[in-house]
Amino acid sequence: MSYLKKLKYEIVLNDSFPVIRGCSKCGRKTCFINTKKFRVNANGNKLDIWLIYQCEECKTTLNLAIYERQKVSSIPKVEYKGFLENNEQLAETYGKNVQLFQKNKADIDFERLNYDVVKLQETVENSDSGQQVVVTIHNPYQLKVRPEKQIAKDLGLSRCQVKDLMKKGEIKLEKN
Ligand SMILES: [Zn+2]
Repeated sequence: MSYLKKLKYEIVLNDSFPVIRGCSKCGRKTCFINTKKFRVNANGNKLDIWLIYQCEECKTTLNLAIYERQKVSSIPKVEYKGFLENNEQLAETYGKNVQLFQKNKADIDFERLNYDVVKLQETVENSDSGQQVVVTIHNPYQLKVRPEKQIAKDLGLSRCQVKDLMKKGEIKLEKN
């Protein structure tokens, strides 16, 4: 009997995005990490708010602009309080927000990402049209990920076999 196996995964980011950029003090490209602290600057009734990153080696800071010249009244109160209190959870949420890095032209260091491929669901159905595995990967951070290792483990195959089956279309990868 043929079957259709469906596997669902989610990419879970364990840490904030690391940033790779030239550090003026170190004189070369280094890794900048999230300090989990904000800087808030008031100018009349306008606010500038940054998330502070720093060079891992010399602690030179890199400010990522969250709000620029924003009216106080247009920032949600709970969020504003979080900025003032350096709320760690809020700092991590922004540290995992791809748009923030794009907006600030900060290059994410994809080599150093700390993420897990977590299995959410596995179902098997009978099928008339041959054996097939459909893998769905929910990737909310739009990461370039290599899920083959996890898929191989869950299917009891080697990574090469998984790649081979992907090429043949017997394992279908869907991203959402
Ligand atoms: Zn440095």
